[in-house]
Amino acid sequence: MPDYDYLIVGAGLYGAVFAREMVNAGKKVLIIEKRDHIAGNCYTRNDEGINVHQYGAHIMHTNDHKVWSYIQNYCQLNNYTNRVKANYQGTIYSLPINMNTLHQVYGVITPEQAEKKIESLKVPIDNPKNLQEWMHASVGEELYEMFIKGYTTKQWGKSPTELPASIIKRLPIRLTYNDNYFNDRYQGIPIGGYTQFFEHLLDRIPVQLSTDFLADREYWLNQAKEIVYCGMIDEFLNYQDGELEWRSLRFDHNRLEERNYQGTAVMNYTELDIPFTRVLEHKHFEHTGTLPNLGHTVVTHEYPQEWDRSKEAYYPVRDVNGESALYDKYHSFALKEFPKVHFKGRMAEYIYRDMCPTIRSALDFVSEKLN
Ligand code: FAD
Repeated sequence: MPDYDYLIVGAGLYGAVFAREMVNAGKKVLIIEKRDHIAGNCYTRNDEGINVHQYGAHIMHTNDHKVWSYIQNYCQLNNYTNRVKANYQGTIYSLPINMNTLHQVYGVITPEQAEKKIESLKVPIDNPKNLQEWMHASVGEELYEMFIKGYTTKQWGKSPTELPASIIKRLPIRLTYNDNYFNDRYQGIPIGGYTQFFEHLLDRIPVQLSTDFLADREYWLNQAKEIVYCGMIDEFLNYQDGELEWRSLRFDHNRLEERNYQGTAVMNYTELDIPFTRVLEHKHFEHTGTLPNLGHTVVTHEYPQEWDRSKEAYYPVRDVNGESALYDKYHSFALKEFPKVHFKGRMAEYIYRDMCPTIRSALDFVSEKLN
């Protein structure tokens, strides 16, 4: 008989929530994680009082009250509100495009003036076919050139004429002075960092770090009655039908012996010839009022890059309709051949999913298993 009810592969958010709930329900679980730390891409490293978001800026935001309450069983959240700035040709603008931005670019003061201005800028295009056409039809050429074109080209390594409008449609264009990046009711960051939040979530749950499931697949397959696999599905199947396409990122973290580098947590660089997309200054994620008395700061430059097997996979590249025939093929094969393995989380499901929906998805699967 296998030792465990569940072997969970990956100590990221999906695996950690699933493990917590199953242990609470009396199941015997083991987590294995190939990295040398817990928390997956949410991981924060403490640099003498500054929690550094090691895999990019992570901000929790949701309208899901149940998930928001759940998180607070394991941490206290601060009142961080994401207010992104854009540096375009050395001038700082407010994002997403809102009344502050429109005032900065066009001098308009009231929403009525802004609406008239935008109407006069719109390019008449009946059925916008791609991201560029959709932006031209929505706000005209200038705002698109300033804030969207360069950033999006860098992010995806493709011209916006080859990208679906759906990528950008999520970004609101607001005729208010509200510069909050998100529309959700709840927003914040765990005080003490994400790693501490995961330590509480995983309290007394066995986690074996630096252990790759695929290095000893047969052994691990026999260790539990069921397996929740949070790694890449194509890698699990030895890339037998080829690789799924991903976009990767390179993070260049630097400690600087100065107190306040850029005055804000997230600064986007929207020009194409600046190779990074954004600069993070981590202390501003945690200290939303007065800055602590620290003589140093940590900043991260984020460079998008092509993915290959030596790099981390961050964003799945699905087709214009959000489909992937190759993923569907892998998934149906895996379900048939490995009935006791559940492919879950962002990598196994080949999906971009924020943290709160990830928690919701893990909680829903727990309910399905227990009922
Ligand atoms: P992961 O965190 O990737 O965890 C999977 C784990 O499985 C990893 O630790 C991996 O090492 C491990 N693993 C894989 N294969 C194996 C194997 N063979 N053996 C053992 N272990 C294995 N969400 C938000 O809500 N707000 C944000 O602001 C936000 N910002 C983001 C910024 C970036 C740049 C990115 C890429 C994502 C961001 N997200 C954000 C999304 C967030 O990171 C995900 O919601 C979350 O990480 C999903 O958790 P997961 O468990 O599915 O995956």
